[in-house]
Amino acid sequence: MEITGVETYTLGLPIDRTVGDSRLEITDMYTVVVELETDGGYTGTGWMNSLGFAPDLLERFVDSQFADIVVGTDPFATDALQDRLRAQTIYYGELGLSAWPRSAIDVACWDIKAKAAGVPLYELLGGDGGDGKSGDDSRVRAYASSMDAHHDLDELTDLHGGFAEEGFSAFKTKVGDKSPTEEARRIAEIREAVGSGAEIFVDANQAWTVAEAIETLDAMGEHGIDWIEEPISQFDLDGHRRVAEATGPPLATGEMLNRPEQFRYLLERGGMEICQPDLIRAGGISGQMDVATLAATYNVPLATHFYYPVSAHVVSAAPTGYVVEYIPEYDVAPILDPAPVVEGAQVHLPDRPGHGYRIDPDAKDERLVTFD
Ligand SMILES: [Mg+2]
Repeated sequence: MEITGVETYTLGLPIDRTVGDSRLEITDMYTVVVELETDGGYTGTGWMNSLGFAPDLLERFVDSQFADIVVGTDPFATDALQDRLRAQTIYYGELGLSAWPRSAIDVACWDIKAKAAGVPLYELLGGDGGDGKSGDDSRVRAYASSMDAHHDLDELTDLHGGFAEEGFSAFKTKVGDKSPTEEARRIAEIREAVGSGAEIFVDANQAWTVAEAIETLDAMGEHGIDWIEEPISQFDLDGHRRVAEATGPPLATGEMLNRPEQFRYLLERGGMEICQPDLIRAGGISGQMDVATLAATYNVPLATHFYYPVSAHVVSAAPTGYVVEYIPEYDVAPILDPAPVVEGAQVHLPDRPGHGYRIDPDAKDERLVTFD
């Protein structure tokens, strides 16, 4: 089979309200879609949720740097194709921006592979459809994650209390831009809303120094924190171990990393106790599965970042698959056909060949964004 065409386009998804974390505010999300056609009759779909960041560049990147390489290749040869795409970018940057379109192409290829095999993606990856924890063989546990750094206390209560009513038992909140006392007050509020048995994760998006992380964790600790995510700069590699050693909750990180070697460095040194590869930064399905294997050798749980509809397949198949992140503000359900189902804090794994989704044709007509 050969890939015969690459189509790239961008859809706009306005967000109901301004949301944010310790370093950004977002009002619009863009999804840059990559569709691969084949001479076998299969189409594969990958996408990048660019938030507000450079959707025009991502779209152009696929077309100007990668499309000519992709056309004519065998979609089953994902490792070889990824090597060729890396080689294309090696002199100006394999890491960072170029990882996004490269990963989206990989997702589209795996969609084609699973469709050609006639099985859901998780099955092709070696999974049986269960995460071993939910007690159901076709669903993966999700946690409710929110860009809630700018919510006031009442809004925090309403938000997380609402998630609890929907059945969620694990919740993530943004921290990192307030004093330790204020952060502790917010966690107390969420704890009150979700109950003592629930898990609460906090995410600082790299806002703190090692000392600030330890001090703030100390202040929040009495309300029960179940993981601390990206407490410090991704470049303070050895600081991760220092934070992990000095604080109680496991240190979760990995969403910014592009290569397995970066994950291995932190895993080896005890600086990554929950492993969070992002589908589109870490190399697509191929990259997430490489990282999943690596995490399993260190017995570290895999809790993928973002992209729940596709990453649920990976968590299902991963030896230490733990949970997927569901961020309602960034939900792509309005553009996917069929819409992914998140119910009772579980993502359903579609019983269809491939990852189970295509771009909804009506959404494409209505939400298409073009650039000059
Ligand atoms: Mg995060």
